[in-house]
Amino acid sequence: TVVTGVLRFGESYLTESVSQDVAFDMRNEVYAKLQSLSFSYHDRAQTGQLLARATSDVERLRRLTGRGLLRLVDSGVLLIGTTILLLRMNVPLALASLAVMPVIFFIMRWYRSQQHPRFRDRQNKMAIMTSRLEQNLYGMDVVRGFAQEEAEVGRFRRENQKVYDVSQSIVRLGSFTNPAVVLLASAGAVLVLWLGGRLVINGVLTLGELVAFNSYLVQLVGPMRRMGFIVTMIGESQASAERVFEILDTHSEVQDKPGAATLGDIEGRVEFDNVSFGYLQARPVLQDVSFVAEPGQVVALLGPTGSGKTTITNLIPRFYDVTEGAIRMDGVDIRDVTLDSLRSQIGIVMQETLLFGSTVRENIAFGQPEATQEEIEAAAKAAAAHDFIMGFPRGYDTDVGERGVTLSGGQRQRIAIARALLLDPRILILDDATSSVDTETELQIQAALSELVAGRTTFIIAQRVSTVRNADLILVIDRGKLVATGSHRALIRESGIYADIYHRQLRQDVAETEVI
Ligand code: ADP
Repeated sequence: TVVTGVLRFGESYLTESVSQDVAFDMRNEVYAKLQSLSFSYHDRAQTGQLLARATSDVERLRRLTGRGLLRLVDSGVLLIGTTILLLRMNVPLALASLAVMPVIFFIMRWYRSQQHPRFRDRQNKMAIMTSRLEQNLYGMDVVRGFAQEEAEVGRFRRENQKVYDVSQSIVRLGSFTNPAVVLLASAGAVLVLWLGGRLVINGVLTLGELVAFNSYLVQLVGPMRRMGFIVTMIGESQASAERVFEILDTHSEVQDKPGAATLGDIEGRVEFDNVSFGYLQARPVLQDVSFVAEPGQVVALLGPTGSGKTTITNLIPRFYDVTEGAIRMDGVDIRDVTLDSLRSQIGIVMQETLLFGSTVRENIAFGQPEATQEEIEAAAKAAAAHDFIMGFPRGYDTDVGERGVTLSGGQRQRIAIARALLLDPRILILDDATSSVDTETELQIQAALSELVAGRTTFIIAQRVSTVRNADLILVIDRGKLVATGSHRALIRESGIYADIYHRQLRQDVAETEVI
């Protein structure tokens, strides 16, 4: 008993800790993989699905690798060992007791085949439910603003109901199968008593032998029951494993070439050479776009909504790879250099700024974690963010709420500008739409932007008159084609579509300060 106690302790400690190791490694691998997968993968994947896979599916696998495997091995050893003992004691009796085995085996097989699709289905539905939850939390303001709380509760209930229904059908299947296995195993025992009893009466077997035989037989029932439980667990884990490995085995469409070179310090010449691109094979978004942006130039992208302006800016940091043609940076095809070295040269400030749930300091230093306090403050000052940051009780140590909710739109944007300034990139991508902010803030943002733009090759998705007026090069894009290029002066005379957009779609500036 003492030895058993010690061994049990070791067993439970080792299995638990090994299974935690497995889950730990797997979560890390899934996370690292998600970081490296291309944008096109994330366009298709649902966040909720990925969340469910990285958490609940990994957890199911953890349970199998701990207790599950242990039970499988110990039940297997017990089953085989006891069977050998029984056969050595009395062959006819042993055969009678094992007669039910093939039936149990077939029931188990049937059970597994029924279970697996249900488990997969349940994990899928669970992921859909998680997606709903995630989207709802993310878009809480829209839900409330449109008074859709009740409808949303209803929608969630329907998804939840689906998970519940599949779970119930799994429970029904299990509640039928497991007792059936126990019943069959017990039927074997009855058979042995009946046959053994007759052998004892006929004097072929002693009563003691029968009792001994029966005690061994009772030992078989336990592992048989556990086998049912393990088969369930394996079925569940198989479905989860498939889902997790689907992620791990995905080949990223955008990745470093073998032996890709490092892009050294560049001057910032960006060339689009007959670039065509489509997010989906069947639907081209850009066609034959060619232009050259010289180092330090400001390039304004102009065109109706959906014409492909954002798409052009997505191609420069290789968020997607071009379908045809090439993009060159200082003459080097960007597919020939490592993604890290390429992207570290590019700063991006978009209209929707994502801030992480950490301190203001960490948010500014996001691309440059080793930056000193002086550098961070200098960037914040240039971005007109220092003053409002110091206005917070904890200054740079202020925690930014999740998704930056504790900051106003204008403040978020200035932190994003500081973040890009700190990176000191040669190439800059901006969206110059300022979210609804007051005039004063807008002027500050404009001033911060002009600070940021100085000396860098800049691509601006133009929303305002001053941007295009001051741009060195304007690209007019219409339905994925570059329809006109040039300076404001030339275009306003020559291009009808430019004149039209200029007069009807661009925003007048709040003040006639020509900042950019
Ligand atoms: P713009 O910035 O000029 O408004 P976009 O470059 O965002 O235009 O979009 C160009 C076209 O590409 C649109 O038809 C849009 O629907 C499509 N598109 C944009 N992003 C994606 C995406 N991730 N997946 C599929 N299609 C997309």
